[in-house]
Amino acid sequence: MTKSEIRSRIQLRQSSLKDYLLCPKLFEYRHLKGIEAKTRSAKTLNGSALHLLMFWLHHGEWDMDVENMYPKAFAHYEYSSDESHIPVRFTKDRETDIKAFTATATEIVDGYRRRPENKLSRMLYQEVEFRVTILSETFTGTIDGLRELPDGKIELFDYKSNAIRPNVHAVAADIQLNLYSYAAMWGEFKVGVDEWIKPHILPDYSSIYYLPAHKIRKRNSPQGEKGQEMSYPLIRTSKSIEDLRAFRKEVSNILKSLLKPWYFKNNSHACVFCQYTDLCQSQNPLVTDRIASRANDLLNELNMT
Ligand code: SF4
Repeated sequence: MTKSEIRSRIQLRQSSLKDYLLCPKLFEYRHLKGIEAKTRSAKTLNGSALHLLMFWLHHGEWDMDVENMYPKAFAHYEYSSDESHIPVRFTKDRETDIKAFTATATEIVDGYRRRPENKLSRMLYQEVEFRVTILSETFTGTIDGLRELPDGKIELFDYKSNAIRPNVHAVAADIQLNLYSYAAMWGEFKVGVDEWIKPHILPDYSSIYYLPAHKIRKRNSPQGEKGQEMSYPLIRTSKSIEDLRAFRKEVSNILKSLLKPWYFKNNSHACVFCQYTDLCQSQNPLVTDRIASRANDLLNELNMT
């Protein structure tokens, strides 16, 4: 496939860049070949449902009853999204998983509401679509939020609900967060059906809001006492104009690599939760059909396919 064929098949969204950086092979399956995953992980839907709860909180539902609202948020992604035809892979069964997710979501939302800053900040934009041109390519995506803190500072943030809390170095290098900050400064936000504005904002903070930090400890440990929240939810970084210019150079390098037809496997931690493992391993010349089939049987037995 030539560079122009690759370019004609992909949309430069934050999600495609993220997939490419996670694993070029996964990027090839999903974005170049348009192969759908066979299943969706319930944990991924849980992350989307938490995002939706955060949106509802700031749109008239601050006092929501999470036990009632969480299952609705989950069902929205299960049944009403673009991917609702793809079966969901639950860890145990639907009822047990949703019950556990709801209990955790209740702790998260309660902790979120307890932080005065979250209530007193003014949400300027939430789940806002953006577009921005970098080196004559247009990138698009959605920013979780941009808010004015009680002290007047502006914070751009991305909610995360992964199992592992990112450290400040990972956040400083986070490609999505850099793209959002770049878009806030030099891009456009969609504020109406066909209405775009140029915010021209250099946020004081570009942050990850790590939602699972609000989970409650169930036992004492060296990290904290039973009943306390797990950790501090915000991981804050600041971006200067020079940082954003350096990011432009980084994007240029990623694009050069992304538009070349040299797909290789990542063989990293990404394989652990990849939705294309079956397909990928069966195409791996180092893995015989017999071994691939045996591996898939074992994954089936462990309910991991
Ligand atoms: S199984 Fe691993 S190497 Fe294959 S596409 Fe997924 S992440 Fe990439």
